[in-house]
Amino acid sequence: CGVYAVLAPGQPVANLTYFGLYALQHRGQESAGIAVFDAERKVRLHKDMGLVSQVFDQAVLERLTGDLAIGHNRYSTTGSSKVCNAQPVVLNTRIGPFALAHNGNLVNAAELRHDLASIASELTSTTDSELIAFAIQQAVNRGLDWDGAIRAAAECCRGAFSLVIGTTDGLFALRDGHGIRPLVFGHIGETQQAQWVVSSESCGLDIIGAAFDGDVEPGEIIHFRPGQAEPSRSRWCEQPTKLCVFEMIYFARPDSRFFGESLYSYRVRIGEALARETPVEADIVIGVPDSGIPAAIGYSQLSGIPFADGLIKNRYVGRTFIQPTQAMREAGIRVKLNPLPDVLAGKRVVVIDDSIVRGTTSRKLVQALRDAGATEVHMRISSPPVTHPCFYGIDTDTQDQLIAARLTLEEIAAHLGVDSLAYLSKQGMVDAAHANSAHFCTACFDGAYPIEMDEQVSSSKLM
Ligand code: 5GP
Ligand code: SF4
Ligand code: MG
Repeated sequence: CGVYAVLAPGQPVANLTYFGLYALQHRGQESAGIAVFDAERKVRLHKDMGLVSQVFDQAVLERLTGDLAIGHNRYSTTGSSKVCNAQPVVLNTRIGPFALAHNGNLVNAAELRHDLASIASELTSTTDSELIAFAIQQAVNRGLDWDGAIRAAAECCRGAFSLVIGTTDGLFALRDGHGIRPLVFGHIGETQQAQWVVSSESCGLDIIGAAFDGDVEPGEIIHFRPGQAEPSRSRWCEQPTKLCVFEMIYFARPDSRFFGESLYSYRVRIGEALARETPVEADIVIGVPDSGIPAAIGYSQLSGIPFADGLIKNRYVGRTFIQPTQAMREAGIRVKLNPLPDVLAGKRVVVIDDSIVRGTTSRKLVQALRDAGATEVHMRISSPPVTHPCFYGIDTDTQDQLIAARLTLEEIAAHLGVDSLAYLSKQGMVDAAHANSAHFCTACFDGAYPIEMDEQVSSSKLM
């Protein structure tokens, strides 16, 4: 999911949030929503199924007047694809309403649901995000203030959660102790009367011209109040950082900045590492658009094999994997990519992709490259084999759906119909980042899950 928030009295906060969500559209395409607090501290909410541009129009945004907005793009990982699961979640308390948007996935939802049993009848949706909101509501109604209640709720949660929460006392942003999902903040205008913006990724700041101030750190909670030159920052939890490495290799936008550089630069470097680790003789290097392109450029630069555009992507097709059913996914890929015979015919082709998950995309792609006249197809993947499912907010499906969990490298190569297949090593992947290599979650590549989970949760996806 994508989360976004703007605290900016005097600014059209709903419009700014619309643009922020628009920049974060790649993080979730199932539903979108914006909640706005007006001067009387009343909340107006609009959310629906669909893309940001389908859910909102100028008339809707004009009705969302106020000075604090919370936005969300949903990518379903838990809970079904229904409008009641769209976010933000807005609830009332004894000290007024709040609006919450969540990116991540809890691994103790059943336990939380049990603890919140007294209000279970009010649980309208099936999401873990709603459980966090109810935990905050209960804590406020027990007598805590916003700071205390949000901390108390966070302490009950286990899993991945990057949260933005609008309250009657300003905006809160927080990340789980491992910082599995990203979250950044910045400002617009003069710092003296700073107007604050929080976004899943820095591309959401760029789009509205906000200056990047930094990460919301893992285990940190930041409280932004209107007109305050500096927000109050504190730690609510101390744990080793475990940023999702899949954000680096695939999920986040290439123009978003992590560890002081754009992911584009990181992805070019993992392409170089891939060329060093798994060289092959060939005539051209192509990338699978869009996610495989930066690594293909890196592979080409290091190997000296010319980079070419061998596949054209329809710009208006979303990420195929985001559509929920396998049938839809298969229909999706046929309309998504078209090979260029003029470029491919008679060539030995190295084709680079960022990952193989189920193998459905890659298999069709290899056939399409051969049909377009490629004489050899060498597939190179800029991440290691995905052998384990994610429980922290990326929908990599159940383990039995993951091709590398079932087949050996040779079997996968045969299944895909390639002349050769090689993956980047885990070391190559983490060493290329400008960050301590221990600071990543790599569980989908090695099964080293950083957070213990309910038995029920793990058995739901592991073979
Ligand atoms: P596959 O070979 O599994 O059908 O598709 C792999 C392609 O899907 C890659 O191009 C990759 O960019 C993309 N992809 C990345 N992350 C995910 C994910 O979490 N799930 C799925 N199914 N595909 C993903
Ligand atoms: Fe990311 Fe994989 Fe860890 Fe999930 S299991 S948080 S996708 S690295
Ligand atoms: Mg891809």
